[in-house]
Amino acid sequence: MMQDDLPKRCGKNKDGYRGESIDPDNILGQLEDQSKAKSWKTEHLRFGNTSRESLLFLESRDTHHQKRVLISGGIHGDEPATTAAIAQLILNAELPGAISYYVFPCLNPTGMRRGARENAEGSDLNRDYFKKQTNEVQTHLHKLEALPRFDLALHLHEDWEAAGFYLYELSKENTPAIYGRRILDQVGKVCPIELAEMIEGMPADRGLIHPRHRYLDRDDWPEAFHMMRHKTDHCLTLEAPSDFELNIRVKALITAVQTAIRIL
Ligand SMILES: [Zn+2]
Repeated sequence: MMQDDLPKRCGKNKDGYRGESIDPDNILGQLEDQSKAKSWKTEHLRFGNTSRESLLFLESRDTHHQKRVLISGGIHGDEPATTAAIAQLILNAELPGAISYYVFPCLNPTGMRRGARENAEGSDLNRDYFKKQTNEVQTHLHKLEALPRFDLALHLHEDWEAAGFYLYELSKENTPAIYGRRILDQVGKVCPIELAEMIEGMPADRGLIHPRHRYLDRDDWPEAFHMMRHKTDHCLTLEAPSDFELNIRVKALITAVQTAIRIL
């Protein structure tokens, strides 16, 4: 399909409009109730005093196969397509089989309830994985310590400024990107790809950002840096463009996740 035939931008963010919000408690409640019947194990990881202050964690182990995949979303509360995509992947059984999955569908529930990027205290959780000052990140890291290494980590995001979908592929120093182009080829059938040559200050090749060197050399680590240092050799940060309808962003993220796992 040509980019011309694909869905168009909404132009929503012009007037300070911040997009559709979803009710994370409703979606996460459904996920918790209905995933058990599909042999997922669920757990609430408390990060505060009330039961609303907890991170939902889901796990589905395939004992016959060794491949392990981590999936996370909702670390920025104004990126509802990420949690919605993860819920759909699990509830509609759209994740490829014969893999063990470890899933954090919403790492920032207090932000998502308000439709805000930051948590209730105003912290950007995805800059806290080096300093580890927030309760949410400490709780997330505590759980990660108890989990094995992953063959692949997938982090779902949205970007308000992007004209199309793009992704960051992190791999071991001086190793090639092996997922990015194939994922973008598939996502490009349902959502335009961001074609800017620079994205967030980094050189991009038709939606693919593949930083090779010294990217851990800063102290505002996103989740992906922690994963690369401690939990995996391969990490993809998937960025859906917020200025498209929610169902398009969800479809784009689902396509990216499914394609990445099939390559694995
Ligand atoms: Zn984000």
